[in-house]
Amino acid sequence: MMRLPWFKHRAPRTVAEAAHILAAEGKGAMLIAGGTDLLPNMKRRQQTPTTLVSLRRIEGLKQVANGAGLTLGAGLTLSELVALPQVGARYRALHQAASQVASPLLRNMGTLGGNLCLDTRCLYYNQNEDWRRAIDFCMKCEGSTCWVATASKRCLAVSSTDTAPALISLGASVRLVSGQGERDVALNDLYQNDGMDYLARRPDEILTEVSLPDLAGWQSCYWKLRRRGSFDFPILGVAVAVRCATDGTVEDARIVLGAVSSRPLLTDAGPLLIGAKLTDEAIAAAGKKATSAAKPMDNTDLDLYWRKDVVSAFVGYALRELRGEDMSATRRRVGQHA
Ligand SMILES: Cc1cc2nc3c(=O)[nH]c(=O)nc-3n(C[C@H](O)[C@H](O)[C@H](O)COP(=O)(O)OP(=O)(O)OC[C@H]3O[C@@H](n4cnc5c(N)ncnc54)[C@H](O)[C@@H]3O)c2cc1C
Ligand code: SF4
Repeated sequence: MMRLPWFKHRAPRTVAEAAHILAAEGKGAMLIAGGTDLLPNMKRRQQTPTTLVSLRRIEGLKQVANGAGLTLGAGLTLSELVALPQVGARYRALHQAASQVASPLLRNMGTLGGNLCLDTRCLYYNQNEDWRRAIDFCMKCEGSTCWVATASKRCLAVSSTDTAPALISLGASVRLVSGQGERDVALNDLYQNDGMDYLARRPDEILTEVSLPDLAGWQSCYWKLRRRGSFDFPILGVAVAVRCATDGTVEDARIVLGAVSSRPLLTDAGPLLIGAKLTDEAIAAAGKKATSAAKPMDNTDLDLYWRKDVVSAFVGYALRELRGEDMSATRRRVGQHA
């Protein structure tokens, strides 16, 4: 049985108190929300914080505010998020992404903030300590070599969050709060293409809320590829948001890929659609463009060449759904999503 290492546990009631503790404890401290990713990582000794600062008692992190758009507290569980009628009605990509994270039990514990700050994943890293010691560890944790690409100076672990691609396609921004103040950043700017240093968030900053703009006139959806529909991480996520004129001409579009890089990828495929209608030809061209951006590595489930090839098909499914085709049978069969 894998046991947790010893750690100090702090349970503040306000964001200000949490920020104060985080700053005072320094490098050894980490935030914990639902713990569904961090605690397994600690059991495997991938992450060994000396202090955990729990966000679970901070009621302020559960707030939902309607305005021109929608503001969501980072402490909302994914189940609470999916149950919000505003999310289902106006931000479908987010609803579909959150409802496909892990399993119902994990969604009852796992939070929006934790999902956005989720550690990157790799077959050589998400193993127990003995397994990793047998290969002399790897660059991301305790070692010096990247076993996925031995000449690589950079860790290529995969960004595996489902909600981040969806929220980037919806133009979301996040608020980061520390003892030094607060700042709002576009969610797309929160991520860096580096499996070890994957967030542009300082260790003393707490992600407190996610803001979505008013997206009247936009439609969106999220398609996820995974081996088992019951609870697997994505091996490809495709989030698409499109605004069309009344005659069907695309006025604006964003196509974001997840799980094919160390960060969610906002591709050039969206702008390619602007001024066109969602014809088969335009959809195929967008799929081709998105495929060229995808850089899957041999460090997660299924064959990497096949995973790159299917990007085009998944972009196609998403765009066809948004142009009004009934894709429910394909969604059930390929995406394993009702
Ligand atoms: C079997 C299994 C299957 C899974 N499948 C999926 C999946 O399909 N898709 C998916 O996206 N995830 C999946 N997960 C991962 C995880 O369950 C979810 O991503 C969940 O939303 C994480 O949220 P949490 O609150 O539990 O995060 P935690 O584990 O508490 O924290 C995760 C990380 O985020 C940091 N953090 C948490 N909250 C904040 C905050 N407010 N500000 C700054 N940093 C913060 C923590 O310090 C930690 O580094 C799976 C996990 C398991 C065990
Ligand atoms: S990509 Fe390389 S350095 Fe990163 S976790 Fe995998 S093996 Fe380790």
